[in-house]
Amino acid sequence: MKVVELLDRATEPLISYEIIPPKRGGSISEVMNVVEELMPYDPPFIDVTSHSAKVEYVESGDGTWRRRVKRKRPGTIGLCAAIQSRFGVQAVPHLLCHGFTREETEDALIELNYLGVRNVMALRGDDNGYNKPVPDGRSSNEYAIDLVRQIDDMNEGRYLEELIDPAPVDFCVGVAGYPEKHFKAPNLTWDILNLKRKVDAGAHYVTTQMFFDNAAFFTFVEKCRDVGIDVPIIPGLKILTRKRHLQLLPSRFHLKIPEALAAEVEAAKPEHVADIGIEWARKQCEELMDAGVPSVHFYIMQRADIVKQVVDPIREMA
Ligand code: FAD
Repeated sequence: MKVVELLDRATEPLISYEIIPPKRGGSISEVMNVVEELMPYDPPFIDVTSHSAKVEYVESGDGTWRRRVKRKRPGTIGLCAAIQSRFGVQAVPHLLCHGFTREETEDALIELNYLGVRNVMALRGDDNGYNKPVPDGRSSNEYAIDLVRQIDDMNEGRYLEELIDPAPVDFCVGVAGYPEKHFKAPNLTWDILNLKRKVDAGAHYVTTQMFFDNAAFFTFVEKCRDVGIDVPIIPGLKILTRKRHLQLLPSRFHLKIPEALAAEVEAAKPEHVADIGIEWARKQCEELMDAGVPSVHFYIMQRADIVKQVVDPIREMA
């Protein structure tokens, strides 16, 4: 089922989760155990991230180029298929511009279609400094909007080459939004207009970057609605569990940690920091649900134990 259909049918706000694949060489059971722990919480869908590949072009010496792709955490598509078949829960693979040619993206979408995966998140991908222009004419999607257009084309039965009687696919497409703006955008308005273009190009819903201040999310949603973005906007939350998150999260994700939260974490003993983060996330989640968000999306990486402590009291109250 599509994410937008799940949101549409829900009679109360949903809680979804985002996990990351293991490092190359890791075991699938690392991920399956996390999903198993989440199953009593009836996740409507689970996102599986994709790792931005390092792509290098090496000149072979005879005028041709050799493409070298290194992906630290491969397996997003396989994991999604395994999650859907073992647990019957919708899995949402993240598809990236970085590290994939448009031909590889088309093949990945065909693969996903055959596997019965109905949803994808279309993203540019983290910039790891390796995605240099392609010297041999292979084309990658540059921005998320280009990827959304490619998926939308396939939804309409348009593939990269002209085919006789091509079958359309039918993907529900999510895109990223940034309540505190994307770090490369000159300002929030500019960034929201970029989001509007992605929606106009065929995206069906938005999931946001993590944030710790609900006011930023509410303002963001208001501005999105003002420019005519009328698709569901799902807030993304992360639970702060360590003191080093105070520096790490702002520098990695370009977000602000509210002074009250930072002061409380700073003053706490390390072993009490997770309790503070859990309580903060629980209050954020409750306030967002009271405000009528369609769903709350938790970035949980590779562990379920912490998020359960946020979700348990919320479920008890429901
Ligand atoms: P875009 O929408 O393409 O925007 C990127 C930047 O380019 C923005 O500043 C935008 O304003 C600007 N821009 C857009 N179009 C143009 C243009 N034509 N000219 C100039 N500037 C332009 N990363 C991963 O590697 N793997 C993941 O699995 C992953 N999952 C994510 C999930 C969510 C919910 C979110 C919010 C982020 C995720 N990311 C992931 C991070 C994301 O890939 C980065 O934030 C990336 O830098 C931007 O991706 P985007 O899809 O928002 O890009």
